Amino acid sequence: MIGIVGLGFVGLSLAVAIASKGYTVIGVDIDRGKVELIRKGEPPFHEPGLREVLGNTVGEKLHVSDDYRDLMDADVVFICVGTPTLPDGRQDRRALESAIHGLAEMYSEDRGKRFRVIAVKSTVLPGTTRELAQTFSKLSGLRLGVDYGFAMNPEFLREGRALEDTLHPSRVVIGCVDDRGCRVVEEFYREFYGRVGHDARILLMSAEEAELVKYASNLFLATRISYANNLARICEAIDNCDILRVLEGTGLDPRIGTHYLRPGLGYGGSCLPKDVKALKHYMEEKRVDPALPEAVDRINETQPLRAVQWLREALGSLEGKIITVLGLAFKPGTDDIRDSVSLKIINELLEEGAAVRVHDLMALKNVRRIYGDRLKYYDDPREALRGSDGAVVATEWDIYRELGPEDYAGLMRTPVVIDGRRIYDPWRFKGDSRIRFYAVGLSRRYSGPS
Ligand code: NAD
Repeated sequence: MIGIVGLGFVGLSLAVAIASKGYTVIGVDIDRGKVELIRKGEPPFHEPGLREVLGNTVGEKLHVSDDYRDLMDADVVFICVGTPTLPDGRQDRRALESAIHGLAEMYSEDRGKRFRVIAVKSTVLPGTTRELAQTFSKLSGLRLGVDYGFAMNPEFLREGRALEDTLHPSRVVIGCVDDRGCRVVEEFYREFYGRVGHDARILLMSAEEAELVKYASNLFLATRISYANNLARICEAIDNCDILRVLEGTGLDPRIGTHYLRPGLGYGGSCLPKDVKALKHYMEEKRVDPALPEAVDRINETQPLRAVQWLREALGSLEGKIITVLGLAFKPGTDDIRDSVSLKIINELLEEGAAVRVHDLMALKNVRRIYGDRLKYYDDPREALRGSDGAVVATEWDIYRELGPEDYAGLMRTPVVIDGRRIYDPWRFKGDSRIRFYAVGLSRRYSGPS
């Protein structure tokens, strides 16, 4: 029997994936509303395929609850609670600590009856898992490696592909605190992926190495994005340069590759921004020069503001101007708006007195929760553009690709169009004299091949 603590993107995806392969799974979350929704077969967030697998498993192999005592019979418990970053850059460990308290209180009751393993799936800084194990021992009175095992097992899933990535991960990393616990987690994964029919690469290492693998992966991905965006600034500052051509010419080198080498308004989401910041803070604490995460983060923090700078350049003061933001989710295919660049742009526009209209295919509800009636919400991008002074494509939903220069020019009052995700053919837009067109990484003056 498998236990899951925290039924967010990571926990719920893991829970349904494991349950769909015949394991009995108990999922616990402190959010009662979420538990109720899941119990009814309603996913609390959008994820392709999730509704169907949840419908097939909940009440059968998957049971959900807000009571830790329901985890009593679990053999392995995966902790999947959130680990956000505090305003000062430190990692917020309160949810993790509360989970450890909850588990310790319950498991101390049946001392030594069963060897259980707790595996931390949440992203945590090196050293954290071992500290959590010590806290657990202290609180429960149980002995590490004798009464219980503890392991670190970072998660690499991508939102929008959570189920697919959980069932077919590129690798499974298991960080060991005690040998016995580590082996139990390894055995579980070997059996699980045997049932899936996936030949999983399973890597065993120290807990600290496993913790660092997660940060190393996210720092690398974030670095590639900030690299593309920093080079995009050079293209914008000179003539005859399109970052897409520069990156194509760069990425075709097999040592570099084109993956994750796209210019845009910056990376968002629940992982990259917070993990880069947490690593930077951690390196400072350890007296290691955080030159790389610092630069990557700095580039990303200022990148969304390019859109606002261009609007100002084209429209002058934004006071009273109607600006349409197309796309709110941090990427297409999700309703997740955590650290979405659109929110940074919206905040800046509101600050400058603009009237902001927004459109998104999935995230309108989540944005409305934050801004209420300070924004105007639209289900149709054309309606959102009608009569507006400026438009920013902030998320590359396919539906925006269908809009051509004639739509923007025909609908908008003063057609200033900012392609923040490079979804348009710039020459079509630049060829329309009614439109003032800006695109990330594109020179204002260009006389090269089009
Ligand atoms: P999330 O915010 O979607 O879900 C966390 C869940 O934990 C929430 O439902 C919350 O109610 C619950 N929770 C909080 N405290 C609890 C407690 N004491 N007991 C039980 N439940 C509790 O978070 P997420 O996106 O699933 O991320 C979880 C962890 O996995 C984070 O550390 C994150 O960095 C990491 N991660 C996330 C992703 C991703 O794409 N979302 C990918 C890889 C790793």
